[in-house]
Amino acid sequence: MPRESKKSKIARVTEFCRRMDALYGEEPSALDWHTPFQLVIAVLLSAQTTDAAVNAVTPELFERWGTPELMAEADAAEVAEVIHRLGFFRTKSQHCVECAQMIVADFAGEVPQTMEELTRLPGVGRKTANIVLNKAFGIVEGIAVDTHVFRIAQRMGLTTASTPLAAEQDLLAVIPQELWQGVNSQWIRHGRATCTARVARCDECPCEDLCPKRPVRHGAGKAKKRSRKG
Ligand code: SF4
Repeated sequence: MPRESKKSKIARVTEFCRRMDALYGEEPSALDWHTPFQLVIAVLLSAQTTDAAVNAVTPELFERWGTPELMAEADAAEVAEVIHRLGFFRTKSQHCVECAQMIVADFAGEVPQTMEELTRLPGVGRKTANIVLNKAFGIVEGIAVDTHVFRIAQRMGLTTASTPLAAEQDLLAVIPQELWQGVNSQWIRHGRATCTARVARCDECPCEDLCPKRPVRHGAGKAKKRSRKG
């Protein structure tokens, strides 16, 4: 198969994004939060867990420790009790407290607004930072490559990377910046509804003519699971 030019890839993915936008439009965050700090915590908790499961524990969590100052003083074991229904609850409770402590100590109690500063927070990787920048501050610095975006990017022939971090760089190189925000929400919904991990329902996809349907590299998923930061 001849190598696709960058120009053709850009045109193809731009049209893909246009059709995703027509199909899914704008979506409010499925996580419940009221402040940037609460969004950081909710996204941190959502790794390997559904948004609904996170929304079931955050009312009590935020009632007790809804600000960086309160969470910084919390006992991680008590936080773990509140979120024990979520996967990896012990690690996540530790990250919640350490994250709050750093926000208080290094950022005067305010969630920072740059990628570089956000990714210094315990448990916060580029994916979480992208979501927080985007939804809390309206800043689009990158693409949040979760398992759905990663899978679609591979099937669409946009990346052969084995990690989400490297895949993000491949996507940033071919997707026009004004479309990055849509990828963050619409591709995730497409990955849940149609281009799922178990089966790609290509006959229900409006983009079949744009997609080479490349196989998904399974090693890529394992690389993601080994990552401690979301
Ligand atoms: S055509 Fe199939 S593989 Fe390609 S994005 Fe649509 S559902 Fe996924």
